[in-house]
Order: sequence, then C-alpha cells, then structure tokens
Amino acid sequence: MSFPRSRRAFVGQSLAGLAGLGAEADTPPAPSVSAARAWNVICVGAHPDDPETGCGGTLAAYAELGHRATIIYLTRGERGIAGKSLEEAAAIRTAEAEQACRILGVRPVFAGQIDGATELSGPRATQFAALLEAEKPDVVFAQWPLDTHPDHQVAAQLVLRAWLAAHRRFPLYFFEVNTGHQSLGFAPTDYVDVTSRREKKKAALLAHRSQHGDEIVRQHVQLMEDFRGREVGVAAAEAFSALGHRLPPAGGAPPG
Ligand SMILES: [Zn+2]
Repeated sequence: MSFPRSRRAFVGQSLAGLAGLGAEADTPPAPSVSAARAWNVICVGAHPDDPETGCGGTLAAYAELGHRATIIYLTRGERGIAGKSLEEAAAIRTAEAEQACRILGVRPVFAGQIDGATELSGPRATQFAALLEAEKPDVVFAQWPLDTHPDHQVAAQLVLRAWLAAHRRFPLYFFEVNTGHQSLGFAPTDYVDVTSRREKKKAALLAHRSQHGDEIVRQHVQLMEDFRGREVGVAAAEAFSALGHRLPPAGGAPPG
C-alpha cells in the first residue's frame, strides 16, 4: 500500500510515541524502549471486553515486544448476562476475560466494583489509585470519559483522579469503544497500526461468548479499525486521545 509520506511520518511518530512500538514504524524509528527495560503498560476498562475493543491490538503489540501489559477490569460484568445471577455472570465473564487476556498476552486484574453499580467516591478513588500505583505504570490507557455508559464514565474518572494524585507522572491515553454508539465526541491524537494484530484482537473478542463477541467485532470493531486506519493510511488502526504530556521519544528514559 502506498500513502503520502506525511501520513507515514505521522503514524511513525505516533507509534514511536507509544513506548517502543516505534520498532514497526515506516519512518526511521528510535531505538526500542524495550531494549532498556520492560514497561508496565496498564489498560483500565469498566467491563470485560471494553479494553479488548478499544486497544486489544495495541496491548498485543506491547506484549509481543516484551513489555508487561495488564488489563484492570473495574467490574466482572455482573449484569451482562440475562437470566443469570450476579455471581453466575461474574464467574462466566471472568473466565472469558481471562481467556481473552491469554490470547493477547496480558495479565488480568479485577478491581472489585459491580457492573451497573460502580461508584465514584473519595474512598473508591483512593482505593483505585492505590491499586493503579501498585502496578507502577509507565503508561496508562483508560476508557473515554464521555461514554454513554455510566460505568465507563466512572472508570475514566477513577483513572483521571489516580493520574492527578500521582502528579501526572505517567502518560495517559483514552481509548474509544463503539464510537458513535458509546464513545461520544472522541477526538484522536495518536494512532497505532494494528493491521498485523487484527486476528489476535478478534480472537480475544470472540472469547467473550456471553457478549456475542462475533457481533461486537462485526458491528463495531471492524468498522472502527477500518475508519481509523483510513485516517492514517493503514489497513487497521486503533486511535487514542492523549491527555497532558506524551511519552518521551522512544529510547529515552521512561517517566518517573
Ligand atoms: Zn462496557
């Protein structure tokens, strides 16, 4: 595929900006950060399947490059299966999330809130900030604050508060899910080419059988990957919105 040089540079810069992923860029990449040490890459989402939808390809890329990628699920999706009790649904969806994480090469962590009843309070913010800090994040991906689902809003705000409590020590990127349907007014600043991880991401989403992962892929994920890819001249991309500062050029010292 050919595309304008300026767009290649843009993709390359963005990839380089996302911790060591510059190794795949078309533009001359800076040395991979992974050569210095593995980064702790943390993704926070409200429900099982949200992180996979928004940045499954990016997380897989980090994992393949030797970084430590972790997904923090705020809830276990307790209200996501009709006719099942909260406990039954939690057990099913936890197993699905764990399988999806195995496929992506990331580690799952569950933050202990309840689907449909997530809380944003002082104690909850303190508790979540401690959980996130314990992961020693070098970069964090979080759900977009202007999502229609209240749990997504809570997940975003908890990360935002933790980021402020940590004095903005780590770069923070927001990801989109089902844009136009759930994420509203999403404005990308960075893109990652996920063309080569598309199948792996799809497999991770299909692991969410109780959520009809095949329909999520067909109705939302493929459209988003196609659209974001067209914006930067690749077959499939994931888009992010950076808040505040970005990572130093790949090869530089990690923040903190
Ligand atoms: Zn969700």
